[in-house]
Amino acid sequence: MSDYDILVVGAGPAGSTFARYMAEKGYKVGILEKKKEVGLPLQCAGLLGKKIKNLNTLPEEFILNEVNGAYLHSPSDHIMRVSKKDTQAYVLDRVGYDKYLAEIAAGEGAEILLKHNVKSVNSEMGTVKLANQGQKEISARVIVGADGHSSSISNSFNKSSNTVKASQYLVETSKPLETDFVNLHVNSALSPGFIWSIPLSENQARIGLFGDHDYLSLKQILSKFMQSQNYLNDIKILKKYHGEIPVFDSKKALVNKKALLLGDAASQVKPTTGGGLLIGFACAKIAADVVTKALDEDKTSILKEYEIQYRKEFEKELKTQLMVQKTFELLSDKDLDEMFIKLKEKGAEDIISTYGDMDSQSPLVKELLKRGLIFSVLPKVLYRSVSQIWKFF
Ligand SMILES: Cc1cc2nc3c(=O)[nH]c(=O)nc-3n(C[C@H](O)[C@H](O)[C@H](O)COP(=O)(O)OP(=O)(O)OC[C@H]3O[C@@H](n4cnc5c(N)ncnc54)[C@H](O)[C@@H]3O)c2cc1C
Repeated sequence: MSDYDILVVGAGPAGSTFARYMAEKGYKVGILEKKKEVGLPLQCAGLLGKKIKNLNTLPEEFILNEVNGAYLHSPSDHIMRVSKKDTQAYVLDRVGYDKYLAEIAAGEGAEILLKHNVKSVNSEMGTVKLANQGQKEISARVIVGADGHSSSISNSFNKSSNTVKASQYLVETSKPLETDFVNLHVNSALSPGFIWSIPLSENQARIGLFGDHDYLSLKQILSKFMQSQNYLNDIKILKKYHGEIPVFDSKKALVNKKALLLGDAASQVKPTTGGGLLIGFACAKIAADVVTKALDEDKTSILKEYEIQYRKEFEKELKTQLMVQKTFELLSDKDLDEMFIKLKEKGAEDIISTYGDMDSQSPLVKELLKRGLIFSVLPKVLYRSVSQIWKFF
């Protein structure tokens, strides 16, 4: 007899949400978390599309700010302003929210074991070994690896995931910020990563970036950027954070025998922004339905349905984003500047405002392609390479 019906490795937002769904149904759920405190340190900009309200519970107390638009900046600061009338995204107190999600999972009966660092998994037997408990072994009928970007559960049946690094500062500004707009800055040194400035209030913002660089280079790019922005001239850095974002991997196996992967561990992140919370929450629901069926029918083979359903729901959108990402990677700063100028001239601000959605980007891409805008704003020398990228769209 197993110790648990389900063992979730990782008390991040995806793991806690899945654990809550299963505990609510009366299963015996254990969550193994290597840290001594859930949610810390902060490793997130906390910007979540409005769809979060359909995908998870979100009490008002964790919403620090609401935004309804973005200023998109080219390397030489040609700016496009895109917005909608109503709230498009929430800026969250991510630390508080992670703790809350873990608490409500525990409230439903999930047992959270802190300082439990999983060292290895045996997917066939349904057991995990802990690194810091004298090789202690714990068993379950199903094991869910929700252990983040460098998941040891994933590594047991996939090659190691690639990640990119991200750095972020919490800053206090002396000049008031426009609180309902985020600022996103692209440049070829970071591409497909970018720099963000996300207001938390009139005088506090999270300023960060991600890209395929080491932390020192990211810090240098960020310092240079901050010096170049008037509104950031007279600021106080209150805190510094850093973290890693998994590179989306469409080939990753998500299920192996009694184990399945969820959230960053499954590289369930948007290729264009690295954001993973919303997909993680949606997949927690898919996983809960499939795992319930597998347990009730006592058939581990049913777990494969999770991967099938995930791909059916997300593959097209994620592959479109991958194509956007690959296109951006081809562009120099000069190309990006020219692209912004041309897009603006062709009315792209209105088109992006109408069709843009930070979580489903395919409708906008489809519209831009339909209007012939993607190719007409790119340098002619890149047509061939860009056509190769988009030939299956
Ligand atoms: C700087 C930065 C900014 C970001 N901004 C955004 C954003 O604005 N919006 C957005 O949607 N996403 C954002 N993301 C991504 C987002 O933070 C992740 O997608 C999200 O945290 C994934 O949740 P998760 O539960 O899958 O994994 P995690 O939040 O990484 O949780 C995994 C948990 O597993 C635990 N763990 C790891 N290994 C083990 C082990 N061996 N044994 C036991 N426990 C283990 C960890 O301690 C952790 O608690 C950002 C990421 C970074 C780095």
